[in-house]
Amino acid sequence: MERVREGSTRMRSSGALPGEDGGIGGATASGPGSLAEFTRDPFNGYFEGRSVDEIIPPGSLLDTAGVRRWFDLFSAGLPESLYTYQLPLGLATGPVTEVLGVPLILFSSYSYLGLVGHPRLAAAVREAVDRFGTSTGGVRLLTGTNELHHALEGELADFLGQEAAATFASGYDANIAAITSLFGPGDYALLDQYAHQSIQDGVRMAGCEMRRFRHNDLEDLERRLRQARNRGARRVLIAVDSVFSMDGDQAPLSDLIAVKQKHGAFLLVDEAHSIGAIGATGRGVCEEQGIDPSTIDILTGSLSKAIPSSGGFAAGSEGFKIYVQHGSAPYIFSAAMTPGNAAASLEALHILQEEPEHMDRLRVNTAMLKNGLTRLGFETGRSNTPIVPLYLGDEWRAYRWARMLLEQGIFTSAVVYPAVSPGQARLRLCATAAHRPEHFDRLFAALAECRDTEAEGG
Ligand code: PMP
Repeated sequence: MERVREGSTRMRSSGALPGEDGGIGGATASGPGSLAEFTRDPFNGYFEGRSVDEIIPPGSLLDTAGVRRWFDLFSAGLPESLYTYQLPLGLATGPVTEVLGVPLILFSSYSYLGLVGHPRLAAAVREAVDRFGTSTGGVRLLTGTNELHHALEGELADFLGQEAAATFASGYDANIAAITSLFGPGDYALLDQYAHQSIQDGVRMAGCEMRRFRHNDLEDLERRLRQARNRGARRVLIAVDSVFSMDGDQAPLSDLIAVKQKHGAFLLVDEAHSIGAIGATGRGVCEEQGIDPSTIDILTGSLSKAIPSSGGFAAGSEGFKIYVQHGSAPYIFSAAMTPGNAAASLEALHILQEEPEHMDRLRVNTAMLKNGLTRLGFETGRSNTPIVPLYLGDEWRAYRWARMLLEQGIFTSAVVYPAVSPGQARLRLCATAAHRPEHFDRLFAALAECRDTEAEGG
């Protein structure tokens, strides 16, 4: 596969950046199967000529509030060609990709280090597939473990500064496994209000009492810790993301550690968006904030973001690892991470340590994104990481801006309720190491254009 940071062959041969040749509404790109058509009717005419009441008869399988909400949105938004989800990428994720034949500059990829398509990764995956095949053929506990899993877990633990690590098929599974194996009824879980869905789901599955404390608010956390003790909580888990995925800000780890020690609680920190993206050498928010990782009881994370594979990890003490590998459902009842994904994760860890230039470029590009948006007068909130939200408020405004950007060759994610609170819709922009200055120039010009169009009532 061609390295994505070089851009597609088509782009290089024309010398044009995405959007410079007329956008997706241009004459060559509006027929059936085109990107323009996809944003108007991604569901093969399912919503055309029918009201939502006709589609959902009372008492039918789909007669739920959740289905109704989405279907109302589709019925209102599709006639305006506002559907920008599930766009089928025809190339690897990267600063330049392609959807239905249209080159696009992508600004919402999690591939922070821009390593997707790195030749060493492709070679490592090929070698793993040649040796171990495409599937593990089993769950980790039984016959699904191979040498790559052991090597990855050892190297991950060293990289993270923890005694030991267990890996899973996803970061979602890692949070479920860590929480459900150690906490249960009678225990309390205190979650930052913006903690990731997988943490909330883990707590629900565990059957603990769940309370949310105000975002990064230590006083509120302490108040809830006291409440939990007064109500007879057996054990208390505090759980946060180290980098919050929707706002791009960080958790105050040293304060959280002091609070958990004072109250005899346990702390889970999800480093999904910080491993390979934050800290001098990409070791995450612990490194960035000068925290000894071993003071955190459980570190979880994903291997599908800066580490461009698919999988997750839960790291902590040796005893934690041994138990989570015997007492958690994902380890026993779900297939092991594929050999290719284990190999890609392992090789990415090596690249991260041997090629510091990716982290260097990520830092430069993060500043470029943040500064450019600030110069344009956009509200980016508390972000101090490669995730830089552009707050728009109303969800229809977010859908319209995402669509206007697409028209100009820029692909971004409109994030709306329930991923964020109602009325706090945003474009979730991410810098990656692979973006080039001209990509940022195009983004900034396109955003200025969106603002002008909106001001003109367009
Ligand atoms: N934790 C956080 C904070 C995340 O943002 C995500 C994914 N968006 C996950 C966990 C789940 O990781 P994965 O995609 O590997 O399942």
